[in-house]
Amino acid sequence: MKDFQFKKKFGQNFISDKNLLIAISNDANLSIQDEVLEIGAGAGSLTEILSGCAKKVISFEIDKDLQAHLESLNLKNVEFIFQDFMKFDMKELENKFTGKYKVVANLPYYITTPIIFKFLEEAKKVESLTIMVQKEVAERICAKPDSKDYGILTVMLEFYGNSRICRIINRNMFFPAPNVDSALINIEICPKYPTIDKHDFFNFIKVCFSMRRKTLLNNLSSRYSKDFLKNKLDEKVLKMRSEDLSLKDFVNIYEKLN
Ligand code: SAM
Repeated sequence: MKDFQFKKKFGQNFISDKNLLIAISNDANLSIQDEVLEIGAGAGSLTEILSGCAKKVISFEIDKDLQAHLESLNLKNVEFIFQDFMKFDMKELENKFTGKYKVVANLPYYITTPIIFKFLEEAKKVESLTIMVQKEVAERICAKPDSKDYGILTVMLEFYGNSRICRIINRNMFFPAPNVDSALINIEICPKYPTIDKHDFFNFIKVCFSMRRKTLLNNLSSRYSKDFLKNKLDEKVLKMRSEDLSLKDFVNIYEKLN
């Protein structure tokens, strides 16, 4: 790692504090039978801890300058993949695991949300995600209706599972320190409405939140005619704003319209 140049474009903010790394793996609730996926090995500090708590670890790293160092760690149950995780085929990745697997990662911030959605939309065998994200993203994920943070991310994550903030982490725990604090969140994947087409429901939620301050009638009229909406839904509901509705409300409305 001597002479290593940190690359901002890859979101390289490393953690070396051993207690924090152990706390992250504890929050992921790992057992020695678990298979784990890490995205962004960095200098391998978290990878080493994961390697000691799990049966097998697959760890992605985009930066080939880290390859020689990571391979020199000689972690027997770890497979490093030096590729862009976002471009890797999910089916090919999941074939590497014998059963369900857990994601544990200090994510590169510039692609936090796309990574989360890649799992929600494409993964079939993922059991949980224990991931470091910007504090502000964690607050959006775990927000309650009628708050400024409540939105598409909140509703879709609730649709796919249960999320909680495990701990808030000060920016000074990273090197180099980012501009914002972070939070470790745990997302347990357990779809609550398995019969609903997830892609269509996602599009519906995007339409519902397209203009935050507008009523549901206004937003939904870009997808359905006003007459149809008035026919299917109560006037009271049509006057509501998406930020006031729970996941259950959205599902009820979606089912009435489909
Ligand atoms: N796990 C290390 C730690 O906790 O110290 C490093 C975490 S750092 C926040 C994120 C890492 O993800 C960096 O090493 C970066 O090079 C890597 N990375 C960034 N974009 C990536 C991508 N698209 N695919 C795989 N790795 C990526």
